[in-house]
Amino acid sequence: MRFLVIDNDSHQRWLISRELRREFSQAEVNEIIDTDSLEQALTVGNFDLAVTDYQLHWSNGLEIVRLLKERYPDRPVIMFTDTGNQEIAVEAMKSGLDDYILKSPKHYPHLRASVRSAVERASERRQTATLEGQLRSLLEQHSLGVFQVIPSDRFLETNDALLQILAVRSMEEAQTSEFYRFLSHQGNLGQGQHRKQELLLHRENGETFWGLLSETLTTIEGTTVIAGLLEDITPRKQLEESLRRYASRLETLRQLDRSILQNLSPAEIAHLALQATAPLIQCQLLDITLFNSELQEVTVLAAQTSEGIRLNSGQRFSFEEYGAIDQLQRNEAVIINDLSELDNPSPLMQQFAAQGIRSIARLPIRVQDELIGSLKLASIQPHAFTQEDTDIAQELVSQMAIAIQQSQLRQELQQYAEHLEQEVQRRTQELETTNSDLESFVYLVSHDLREPLRAIQAYNQILLEDHLHQLDQEGKLCTQRIAENAVRMSKLIQDLLEYSRLGRIELPLQPVNLSQLIHEILNQLKLELDQRQVQVRLEDPLPMLKGHYPTLLQIITNLLTNAIKFVRPTLQPQVRIWAEPSGQFLRLWVEDNGIGIDPQYHDRIFQVFERLHSLEIYPGTGVGLAIVQKGIERMGGRVGVESGLDQGSRFWIELPKIEST
Ligand code: ADP
Repeated sequence: MRFLVIDNDSHQRWLISRELRREFSQAEVNEIIDTDSLEQALTVGNFDLAVTDYQLHWSNGLEIVRLLKERYPDRPVIMFTDTGNQEIAVEAMKSGLDDYILKSPKHYPHLRASVRSAVERASERRQTATLEGQLRSLLEQHSLGVFQVIPSDRFLETNDALLQILAVRSMEEAQTSEFYRFLSHQGNLGQGQHRKQELLLHRENGETFWGLLSETLTTIEGTTVIAGLLEDITPRKQLEESLRRYASRLETLRQLDRSILQNLSPAEIAHLALQATAPLIQCQLLDITLFNSELQEVTVLAAQTSEGIRLNSGQRFSFEEYGAIDQLQRNEAVIINDLSELDNPSPLMQQFAAQGIRSIARLPIRVQDELIGSLKLASIQPHAFTQEDTDIAQELVSQMAIAIQQSQLRQELQQYAEHLEQEVQRRTQELETTNSDLESFVYLVSHDLREPLRAIQAYNQILLEDHLHQLDQEGKLCTQRIAENAVRMSKLIQDLLEYSRLGRIELPLQPVNLSQLIHEILNQLKLELDQRQVQVRLEDPLPMLKGHYPTLLQIITNLLTNAIKFVRPTLQPQVRIWAEPSGQFLRLWVEDNGIGIDPQYHDRIFQVFERLHSLEIYPGTGVGLAIVQKGIERMGGRVGVESGLDQGSRFWIELPKIEST
């Protein structure tokens, strides 16, 4: 702590210094004894407090106080004198004197206390001033406007930040601002009451800004004053607004995604998209058009318009009327900032201009590098569209492109499916007609062939019975061959008739006792079985199934005769018959130890007249398995074979089983 001690008397200076050192262990005392030493101390200024006498040869205490306070208003000065009086004390106080103490032996301790408290007060004042300065610069830095105003009268105080926020140069100019008018006309605040509100205000230059106003009503020296803060929250508000718009954009995209998934038509999606986007962009017209490059035509898919602007969905324009198609084809956006300055506007643009439109933004909608349409924004303001607006529009365009592509694919797929369906129906119809034609043909032919065949057989019989003796050996052989071939032909005709009959008659299904049916067949074939010493293994009892008894009898007979027939003559035929469930069906197997069938012929053998062997070794007509297949299919079942060359064959048929109760 550094002190100036100003006194003529060296004893006094010593005594004062002693007191100061007692109070402050680090005290440094500069004794001032004349004008020069005072002048020097004032120039250097290295003191924290001064103690001065009043009566000096070269000056007086009042003068000293003035000089000190003039240069160093914050440094405390204490007058310690025995020559002063009350008037002097009052006078010195006015000049900033901090304390006045009468000089007497008993007042020395008092001096110490006074110095201590003056030093502390000065330090507090310094701290307060520093804090105030910091606060002030903080407020300025954060553009926090501070003001005091007498309602409906005038501003008492404004800081620079407030003037900046209001865009004015002085407190007087601030007086004419919209903000001041607002303060004067708003509702009253109660004493000590606080109020906080967000305001949208205009500056003198026409700009708008958002302010957060906090106010308190207080009384300063009997006057009612509003003390307040005004913060420019425009950036925050803009951020909030753009966040809100961003959220809406996301929501719009989600809605569009949903509508694409819901298989809505492009027109419906476009309509929804425009409805959702319109609130996000300030414009008077928002539309989506589709292009038809073959017809050189533009059709409005959906449009959102404000009053006075005419454009309807479904409306058509030629490319020429519409204009700027080339630019869109090059995948460029068409931005017109002021329609009134456009050279050679297209007829449609002229119409828009006549309706008051000034700005237009058109973005191409492309699918797989092909221009399919465009999105248009139009506003009555020139230079209306911001980057954000075109960004939003671009998102919409991408989404629309996907939607339209999806829908086109869907339509193509649907058309293809319909076409396929029609084709199948047509083919089925054709096939049915051909089949029934064929069947009636087969029936007619077989039927009609029977008569001449019978005649041939009858004449041959006459030859054999009555004229055999007239024939030589070769003639006899020929009649023999005629008889054999006639029998074969008769068998063929019979099989064909049977086959075609199966296609035409109703086969009502009834429960069939398979065991009984197979026993009946084995009985019928007894002679043949015995002749070839066939070993039959029937895994009795077989379950019941649903079928047409006579047809089933015929089918299983055919399978069994084949099983016996297609076995090498040297081998004893072995046949195994068994059944097993197969889902809703019952599968009946007929297995033999015969010559087997090459898998490549497994399908062919079920067709009419398809045979794999010569008649000499294995006689037959080639209709047996065709009858099996047709009969089984007519009863709603299936047929198949498992076999390989020289591995025997396992033929199976499936028919609906009857659940045992
Ligand atoms: P068919 O027996 O009158 O010749 P199918 O229609 O019954 O006529 O049989 C067609 C052909 O299938 C037969 O000619 C024969 O080549 C083959 N085939 C049928 N069943 C068997 C079998 N169990 N083993 C070997 N080949 C068979």
